[in-house]
Amino acid sequence: MRSIEQHYIGGAFVASHGQERFDLINPATEAVIGQVTLGDAEDARRAVAAAKAAFPAFSRTSKAERIALLRRIEVAVAARVDELEAAMVEEYGAPVTWAGWAMRYSAESFGRMADTLEGYDFSRRIGTAEVVMTPVGVAAMITPWNSNVGFICGKLATAIAAGCTAVIKPSEMSALQTQVVLEALHEAGIPPGVFNLVNGRGDTVGAEFSAHRDVSKISFTGSTAVGKSILRTGTDTLKRVTLELGGKSPTVILDDADLPSAMAIAVNAGFVNSGQACLAGTRILIPKQRMDEAIELAKSIVAGVKVGNPNDVATQIGPMVSRKQWQRVQDYIRLGREEGASVIVGGEGLPAHLDAGFFVRPTVFANVRNDMRIAQEEIFGPVLCLIGYDNEEDAIAIANDTVYGLQAIVIGKDKKRARAVAERLDAGRVLVNGILHEPNAPFGGFKQSGIGREFGVFGLEAYLEPKSLLGVVA
Ligand code: NAD
Repeated sequence: MRSIEQHYIGGAFVASHGQERFDLINPATEAVIGQVTLGDAEDARRAVAAAKAAFPAFSRTSKAERIALLRRIEVAVAARVDELEAAMVEEYGAPVTWAGWAMRYSAESFGRMADTLEGYDFSRRIGTAEVVMTPVGVAAMITPWNSNVGFICGKLATAIAAGCTAVIKPSEMSALQTQVVLEALHEAGIPPGVFNLVNGRGDTVGAEFSAHRDVSKISFTGSTAVGKSILRTGTDTLKRVTLELGGKSPTVILDDADLPSAMAIAVNAGFVNSGQACLAGTRILIPKQRMDEAIELAKSIVAGVKVGNPNDVATQIGPMVSRKQWQRVQDYIRLGREEGASVIVGGEGLPAHLDAGFFVRPTVFANVRNDMRIAQEEIFGPVLCLIGYDNEEDAIAIANDTVYGLQAIVIGKDKKRARAVAERLDAGRVLVNGILHEPNAPFGGFKQSGIGREFGVFGLEAYLEPKSLLGVVA
């Protein structure tokens, strides 16, 4: 049993003002593995005061100093990758292979941002003006449970690069891994107050950050509903916001695609992080004349997916993070049947070989219309919809008929045609012919998947205000 009782404020681990205790549960075994003390609005205010006090000096540090700091932090976090991986498996039931990749990638965020900073010029000339990019101020970061450390690292790296100071509210279900990353950040010797972290609930600590007049920017990753509430709360103080929200991503399989490999890509894209991913490709769009073939392929691909012990390197799907999330997935599977869709593989209940843990059966629906709730709402589990289309125009219309717009995949033999389809999809990122990644490309959503972009230069500029200086250019 681990007990986490302190927050990190002003360069030190400090006692919590809030006294609520929250159980940490291993979702693969349902055992209580620890407890965390949740802070309250007073803890949040203390963190903001520390970040505000540190801002004047930190915002004036040189680019070279901040690059050196980012590189030091990368080394410190990388040294903890094994511990982070173990915590992520224990706390989320994340399959170990996925957790290992995710934690290495998180540590590298700092190095990637240092590289971006090296190539970034904070001053540019426009006509007779010099435009200087200046740090926006204290930035608050609120992270989701499904990629908590990833977003702490990505957001903090960007704030540091910009010269902002930070207050962080991690997901309350992620205290073990948060503690490991916190220790690494402390060891890296970040100047006191530059980053501060308060464990706590969203409606107390998160809400205080969103309302506080000394917080200039919020970078939030989480559900669309909470993102909207943060936007409303932040309006009074006109906060700059970056919102990374939900998704219902389409995978469009064109009629010239090699269907077996296309279906393998599509199913994998839907099951990423056990289906608990904002960018999961949960709607698979298939030419109607190839639907029967696609159904058979889906059945055989899913039959080969290993569900179970997250510590087994062969496991692709671990448990849902919580009982609540497990129940939500069950409810959606039932709803899908009620709406008239057919379960072709999977269904309600625990997988037959498991008798404990928040495991669900990877499920695929056929006979899905895009206006059904299972095709419109984010389920956040390994539940996929196969949707037939008549022609390319129809495919594009169905793909775009969603309130979300985070990611899309297009698969087809003719790359030019696939690209033309990609350009017509309303999504912040479109992958053509594979599950591809470019860490410095802007990431974020169209429509209700968010506001703004993260990572690389686009991410950096979201923490900067342009200031036009006139009368200074020779
Ligand atoms: P969530 O919205 O329930 O919680 C996210 C964070 O917000 C948590 O730290 C929570 O405590 C906090 N919060 C809750 N209420 C708040 C309030 N009133 N004010 C301030 N903060 C508040 O999301 P979750 O269940 O932790 O994560 C899953 C969601 O995150 C999914 O919708 C998923 O699509 C989304 N997500 C998006 C991205 C992306 O990059 N677009 C990435 C990962 C996850």
